[in-house]
Amino acid sequence: MKKAALSTGLLLLLFAAVGIFSGGFGSQPTPAVAASHIRVYSAEKGSYIMSDEVVKSKDEWKKTLTPEQFHVLREKGTERPFTNKYAANHEHGIYRCAGCGLDLFRSEDKFESGTGWPSFTAPIAKENVKTLVDKSFFSTRTEVVCRRCGGHLGHVFDDGPKPTGLRYCMNSAALDFVATK
Ligand code: FE
Repeated sequence: MKKAALSTGLLLLLFAAVGIFSGGFGSQPTPAVAASHIRVYSAEKGSYIMSDEVVKSKDEWKKTLTPEQFHVLREKGTERPFTNKYAANHEHGIYRCAGCGLDLFRSEDKFESGTGWPSFTAPIAKENVKTLVDKSFFSTRTEVVCRRCGGHLGHVFDDGPKPTGLRYCMNSAALDFVATK
């Protein structure tokens, strides 16, 4: 009786092992994460272009971003107000995603919010950002992320100036400013 149970157990183990080796290795390649083709606005082209979503692992992002950029973009961090690099920037140009380079905001839409973070009334195009519901810190806010790489940029609030009434409160660390004429 004991011997029968033991051999049944061994048989089951054998089947399990065969299952793992036949299905687990080689026979079915792991499907790669397909990067979607997306339509975004390009300031350089002055029109919409097709682009691929940027999908990278945490380790890959760590290699290309500074620790501060990584913390904000990939860990949804918030930089300190006023001491960040673009809060008081008044130059004319484009603010791109520090993660993937996608055009996100124009200096024409930047305004003095008094918050100590760079603030905009609108993104360069609604297609270039994505908003998500953020329920962290015991409140409900609207998170803004880059449409192409999913990097965290900041939040959008409905207390902005006219004409949109919106205030895109961004982290300088998530942005790369490029001066234009
Ligand atoms: Fe991006």
